[in-house]
This record gives sequence, C-alpha cells and structure tokens, in this order.
Amino acid sequence: MIGVTENLALISDLLHKSAIEAGRNPADIRLLAVSKKQPLAKIREAAAAGQRDFGENVVQEGVDKIEALADLDLTWHFIGHLQSNKTRVVAENFDWVHTIDKIKTARRLSEQRPAGDPPLDVCLQINIDDEESKAGVAPAALPELAAACAELPNLRLRGLMCLPAIRTEFDEQRVPFAALRERAEQLRSAGIDTDTLSMGMSGDYRAAIFEGATIVRIGTAVFGART
Ligand SMILES: *Cc1c(COP(=O)(O)O)cnc(C)c1O
Repeated sequence: MIGVTENLALISDLLHKSAIEAGRNPADIRLLAVSKKQPLAKIREAAAAGQRDFGENVVQEGVDKIEALADLDLTWHFIGHLQSNKTRVVAENFDWVHTIDKIKTARRLSEQRPAGDPPLDVCLQINIDDEESKAGVAPAALPELAAACAELPNLRLRGLMCLPAIRTEFDEQRVPFAALRERAEQLRSAGIDTDTLSMGMSGDYRAAIFEGATIVRIGTAVFGART
C-alpha cells in the first residue's frame, strides 16, 4: 500500500512540473491537503512529511481535528458551506475560510474573531458556472461583496475561490479558472488587491495552475479514498 508520505512527494512533484510548464514559480503554488473524512493518523503522517495546510468542509469534524492535533503547528482552512449559525466556532478555530458568499456571514466572522488572534484570511466563493445547485456569489454581485468584506476589521480578504462543474478536457477545464482570474483582475482595477486564487482539485489542478491558481485543494490524491 502506498502511504500519504509517498502521495505527497508525488503530488509536490506534479505541481512543480505543472508550474514550470505554465511558466510560473512553483513556490507561488500552495498545496492545501483536503483532510475531510480522513483519520487523524493520516493527517499526522502528512504533517510529519512537512505538509502544513489542511482543509475541512464540516465545522464540527474540523474543530474536533484541530483540537486533537493542537500539538502540531498546522494551518486550517474551512472549505465547506458555512451556515451563519456556525460562524463563531469557525472564527475561533480556523485560520482561513474559502467559501464566503454573503456579507452577513463575513460580518459575523469578523465580529466573532477573538481579540488577539490575527485577522481571519478569507476568500470569496464565486458560482463561476452559474449553477442552480451551487453555493457562491453570482459574478455580477462580486464587486459589492468584495468591497464590503475589504472593510471588515478582523478579516483579511485574500482572494477568490471556485468549485466549477466537472469537465474532463484540459482546455475546457481552463475556462472557469480563467474566468475566476479575470474576476480578480477586475477587482484589482477597482482598487481591491488580492493575492489568492483557490482553484483546482485532484482532477483539474493542472488547468488551474495554468490559469494562475495559488492554492490547489487536493484530497483523494493525497489521502486516498475517503472513509
Ligand atoms: C473535497 C473537496 C476538495 C478535494 O477534492 P478531491 O477530489 O478529493 O481532491 C476540494 N475542494 C473542496 C471545496 C472540497 O469539498
């Protein structure tokens, strides 16, 4: 059986190669290991191999893991849908939230971030394919949400995130990622600077890197199938 350490080495190598192919600096791409539904032992193995960033999509499962692994110096990213009644525990425990799509959620997170903690790093989730079933702010409503978030004292607006519809062809996969990058460029012209594009998963990270991803969120390729 191939373990997490071997998987991580393999993926780092693939990310590195994709970055070079895309004419980018590999150091500008961060691997977020998506540890949802994975056991603590596998997360410990990844941490021992040098992995620092982990992603969870269910609040209570994430908080339980953060507490159980408090002896390690890890960075925890919330990547799931966030209901406004669960914001406090997220503001108190996580370092990043990738999935903000409502100003109400952002305001609560800012108010509930404990004094003395650094600002919570946040990305705004865009419904890039305009799908009925998906979370995320509509592209047209992004500028207003971004401007409002940028004002909140205990949040740091880092960038944009998307979870596009599944596509199998590389050229097709690039389309929504290019659209997300263009949204970030539009914000920049409007005076809102960000440094993060959270896009790409196990099946489409290469296309995301070609379009400027700075965080790729990879689960199964690191940890194996979820239990
Ligand atoms: C589960 C998940 C991932 C990782 O998916 P894999 O296909 O296992 O790499 C990435 N992003 C989000 C938002 C997820 O929920």
